[in-house]
Amino acid sequence: MTDTLLDVSGLVKHFPIKEGVLGRTAGAVRAVEDVSFAIPRGQTLSLVGESGSGKTTAARSILRLIEPTGGTILFDGLDVTAMNTADLRRLRRRAQIIFQDPYGSLNPRMTVFNMLAEAIRVHKLRPRQECRARVEELLRLVGLPPEAADRYPHEFSGGQRQRIGIARALAVEPDLIVADEPVSALDVSVQAQILNLLEELQQQLGLTYLFIGHDLRVVRHISDTVAVMYLGRIVEMGPAESVFNQPVHPYTKGLLAAVPVPDPTHRRKHALLAGDAPSPIAPPPGCAFHPRCPDAEGRCAQAVPSLVERSAAHCAACHVHAPSP
Ligand code: SF4
Repeated sequence: MTDTLLDVSGLVKHFPIKEGVLGRTAGAVRAVEDVSFAIPRGQTLSLVGESGSGKTTAARSILRLIEPTGGTILFDGLDVTAMNTADLRRLRRRAQIIFQDPYGSLNPRMTVFNMLAEAIRVHKLRPRQECRARVEELLRLVGLPPEAADRYPHEFSGGQRQRIGIARALAVEPDLIVADEPVSALDVSVQAQILNLLEELQQQLGLTYLFIGHDLRVVRHISDTVAVMYLGRIVEMGPAESVFNQPVHPYTKGLLAAVPVPDPTHRRKHALLAGDAPSPIAPPPGCAFHPRCPDAEGRCAQAVPSLVERSAAHCAACHVHAPSP
């Protein structure tokens, strides 16, 4: 057992573009390019960025829900890219995913009991006669009454459905939870409740989280480490407080400027992001952010900047603000 539960190095995911009746490969969508990070056991790393930044594709490639094009993924020291079908089945028990739309991911024809008991039985985690007690225990863990077991998903509110989704993930006793925008579809007041629940469960059960999000307010609340992605690459990564208080990359500053502050006298520290992200089919040369960057210089269009450490464990990829030594 190592202290690092998930160690991702040089992850790449390209989707080939086929054309013509012969289906020739005409190019590729470069969804994830050279992404590396590690998550210590019991901690939370958040991947953040606008839609199309590659964060969800990276997470799915790590679990091999889609096949990565390249890179190394170690889960508890085991090489995920080399896993066979049986190994992957074991991985899928230990690494669970929670989705943005809890309703879409719950079977409307199954009671909550049947959904949770099925997960327990498939992985032979409890004898049949203990399933009821275990399901009720899981419901209590996520703040739902035991009677919820006999109801169907449509009988619950959005927040309650997300609690059921979390209970189903916990049913198989995972080590890692990949939370893919788990509160984006919920009202703001409910978002806070679900985030608090995720934090409590992490402390209680020692869970490790890979959190995917676009809303920096949400991510700040829950993260130990934040990795900001732009057009498939990590452009800044560091301890959450450091990234929020001393952002280095102009893209991170733009994302932070977009976070609403409930104070009419507050003055923005950073410029808002201009324009839309370019297509990952033909990313701009050099730093892919240069067409939108207020600080761009001539060299920015020439070479892709490397991630350079600026302060303790806080690195950024920017020719101007984090120049290579
Ligand atoms: Fe902006 Fe240049 Fe830094 Fe890219 S490398 S973020 S274009 S200043």
